[in-house]
Amino acid sequence: MIEIHKSAADFARQKYDVLVPTMGALHAGHESLIKIGKSSGKKVLVSIFINPLQFENKNDLENYPKSVEKDLALAESAGADGIFIPSKEEIYPGKVDEVSAGELGEIYEGKSRPSHFNGVLTVVKRLFEISSPRMAVFGEKDFQQLFLIKKMVKEYGLPIEISAAPTIRDEFGLALSSRNMFLDIDQKKSAQVLFRTLQKSSIDEMKQEIKNEPNFKLDYLEIINEESFLKADKSTRYKRGIIAGWINQVRLIDNMQVSFTS
Ligand code: AMP
Repeated sequence: MIEIHKSAADFARQKYDVLVPTMGALHAGHESLIKIGKSSGKKVLVSIFINPLQFENKNDLENYPKSVEKDLALAESAGADGIFIPSKEEIYPGKVDEVSAGELGEIYEGKSRPSHFNGVLTVVKRLFEISSPRMAVFGEKDFQQLFLIKKMVKEYGLPIEISAAPTIRDEFGLALSSRNMFLDIDQKKSAQVLFRTLQKSSIDEMKQEIKNEPNFKLDYLEIINEESFLKADKSTRYKRGIIAGWINQVRLIDNMQVSFTS
C-alpha cells in the first residue's frame, strides 16, 4: 500500500531514496518518471504541490487541474511507495528563502513568465530539504527547468543525482501535459504543430510549419546549446530545438534534439 503523507513530520528524513516532484493531475508522463525512479529498486516518494510561487497568473493557479484520487491510484500502480501532499504552510513556513534562477531563468520560458523559475527552484530546493532524497527525477519536457535544476544542484553542492526522463507523447506526437485537458479536439489537432515543427531539418522549414497552423500563436522558437542554454552555433555539440506558444489561452511547450543550427 502506498503511504500518504500530509506533513513531513509523518516520515523520517531519508526514508525515501528517490523524489518525483509534481503538481498533480498525473498522466503517463509522470508515470514514466515514477517508473524510472523505481527501476533503481529504491523507495520512491511522489510529491504533489501546486506551487503558488511559480505562477505569475492568478487565474492559471486557481484553474490548475486537480485529481487527487486519480493521482493516488496512478502513483501506486506505477510503483510509488509514498505520496507527499503538503500544505502551503509546510512548504513555506514564515519568510520564504527564495532561490534565484539568474539570467538563464529570464530567457525563453522565463521571459514570458517572469519569476517562474525562481519559484520552481525555490520549491524544489525546499522539497529536497524536507525529503533528503539521493536522487530526483524530472522530465525533459520542461527542458529549461531541468537545466536550471541541475545548475542549482551543482551551485549549492547538493548531494542529489538528477535523472532526466524522456518526454512522453500521445500517438500524434503531442507531449503529454496536464494543460492538454483544456484543449478541445480541434485544438489538440492544432497542437500537433509543435511536434511537427521540431522534426524539420532547418529553421526556415520550422517557421513555415508554424505559419501553416494559424491557431498556434508562437512565443519563441530557437536552437539552443544543451550545455549552456545559449543560442547554438556551428561549434555546438548538443543542439536542441525549443518551442513555446499558445493555442487559445493554453500555453504549450516542447523540445527535441536537432542536428542543425540554422
Ligand atoms: P508538473 O506536474 O507539470 O510540474 O510536472 C512534474 C514533472 O513531470 C516535471 O519534471 C515534468 O517535466 C514532468 N513531465 C510533465 N509532462 C511530461 C511528459 N509528457 N513526459 C515526461 N515528463 C513529463
